Amino acid sequence: MEVQCPQCGASVNVIEGQTFLTCEYCSSAVYIDKSQVVFHYMLEPTIDQPNAEASLKRWMAGSKTVKGLDKEAQVTGTEFIYFPIWYFKIKQNGDEKIKVQPASPTPIPGIKELSIPAGDLRFYNENDAGNTAIQEPHVLYTSAVEWLVNEGVDISTVTLSALVHIPLYIFQYNFKENNYSAAVDGSSSEVMVSEFPSKSEMPYLIVGGGATILFFLEGMLLGFPEVLVAYLVTALIVIIAAVLVAERV
Ligand SMILES: [Zn+2]
Repeated sequence: MEVQCPQCGASVNVIEGQTFLTCEYCSSAVYIDKSQVVFHYMLEPTIDQPNAEASLKRWMAGSKTVKGLDKEAQVTGTEFIYFPIWYFKIKQNGDEKIKVQPASPTPIPGIKELSIPAGDLRFYNENDAGNTAIQEPHVLYTSAVEWLVNEGVDISTVTLSALVHIPLYIFQYNFKENNYSAAVDGSSSEVMVSEFPSKSEMPYLIVGGGATILFFLEGMLLGFPEVLVAYLVTALIVIIAAVLVAERV
């Protein structure tokens, strides 16, 4: 079988079933998915595992998560992978845009929103072939193109299609006897999570709801000026309760 190199246009011979190939004329690395030929890149991590874990801890200490998560969470497992994505460069009205679709089923949200610095991409080469951290795509290239069309992209504006393997640190951690996982992008240090111990809104709702009922009852039962005193006392209690709740969660 012969395929056409997307870079130089040369016809290149491939054996049936062969997916990885370096063009013998221009040295571009290409990936062949059912006779569709796309570029084949690797994105190298800019941070190591301790740095990725430090990013995770900073995220845990942030405002979205339950208080004390960064101190109480126990990291129980770490894995480094090169996750496969389909990468499209689109040129519309002079503007260049990048669209990304996971090339493997993943519970990690946010993968589509990752920014992939084009300058940091390098061609996949024969040294990568034995790397077990590199995951192969399980979503067909044609499915990714279909998704692109559904997103309203005119296929003729796609100037580059590629399979890119992006570096991810996957952490497993335990918090209050529950297990969670989080992914840290090894290129941008961005933390991506689906489920995590979030700040609970329930205690706030209880304080707010209780205050409303108290104010209502006082208004019904008390006359003027006692009601003003009652309102003042209730307001103080509510403020103290809210502060206590904020401290604890
Ligand atoms: Zn070529």
